[in-house]
Amino acid sequence: MTITEHPTTAPADTAVADSAAALDAARAALRARLLADGVLIDLGSPGLYGRTGVFERVYTAVDAAAVRSQHDLDAEVLRFPPVEPLAAFERTDYIASFPDLAASISGFTGDDRTHRALLAARERGERWESFLQPADLMLTPAVCHPVYGLVGDTVPQEGRSFDIVGDSFRREPSLDPMRLQAFHMHEFVHIGTPASAEAHRDGRIPMMRALLESFGLAIDVVPANDPFFGRVGQMLARNQVEQSLKFEFVTPVYGPDHEPTAISSANLHEDHFGTSFGIRTADGAVAHSACLAFGLERITIALFAAHGTDPDTWPTEVRTALAL
Ligand code: AMP
Ligand code: ZN
Repeated sequence: MTITEHPTTAPADTAVADSAAALDAARAALRARLLADGVLIDLGSPGLYGRTGVFERVYTAVDAAAVRSQHDLDAEVLRFPPVEPLAAFERTDYIASFPDLAASISGFTGDDRTHRALLAARERGERWESFLQPADLMLTPAVCHPVYGLVGDTVPQEGRSFDIVGDSFRREPSLDPMRLQAFHMHEFVHIGTPASAEAHRDGRIPMMRALLESFGLAIDVVPANDPFFGRVGQMLARNQVEQSLKFEFVTPVYGPDHEPTAISSANLHEDHFGTSFGIRTADGAVAHSACLAFGLERITIALFAAHGTDPDTWPTEVRTALAL
């Protein structure tokens, strides 16, 4: 009989912990490199960065390439501010699925007395945000949100397609440079029949994949598993996977031993927004919708991770694909 030391954790747990620690280290190393090489600027809150010229150069090229790839859609261009009215946000049901990612805006509406109380609290080094009142505005977590309230109650039978890019905010502070709190997605949205919405999602997956691969990134297309909140959320997440509603374009930013990261997605909402916003197609049926989303910062940072922080040294094919 051989006597071995008793490990404090089971071997399987140790392997999981080692892998999590290795992933954290890989994330920290990429973050440190992006900061040291002057690609991103640390703003002092996890997942909030300033961006420099080199970042902006690649980001702009990524966005332009994404737009070129969807040119044949002839989508209507819409742009929105980074905040949306609470009433519109309500109708998306986002707070039911992702309360932990949502964030609202508050403003000061008090009088002189309340202002003095606020300043006194501040003087004592206390938090003073409780003196602010909800402003009925939410930070937009997905840039397509405002469009559903704007198309009226009927879309033509062939549907309508939109090109929307803008700020997204999700309250998920992290030291992973791929997980930001404030970021941008460029979405190509279709509102139409069940068939046209499904065709929008499925028909464009191959070209999105080809585009991302032309950037020299290894891409897999996998069913998405969104972080729906709570116990009811577990059911919604299962439903999303079982019904194959949403696909993600993932790339192994941190190497083959770790979960790859989603840098874009293709999402079929079925009648979710059509029902909430009362949208029908010309034949009277509830409209379906689908979104293709390019995560602009994630694609940009995946490029820096794969090819280095100096775009002038990137492979010629990659620079050509990006028109850099
Ligand atoms: P989603 O609506 O969750 O599919 O998001 C669309 C795309 O936005 C994703 O495929 C990501 O590329 C990007 N994205 C989502 N969350 C974040 C985040 N926290 N930081 C940076 N990019 C994100
Ligand atoms: Zn969308």
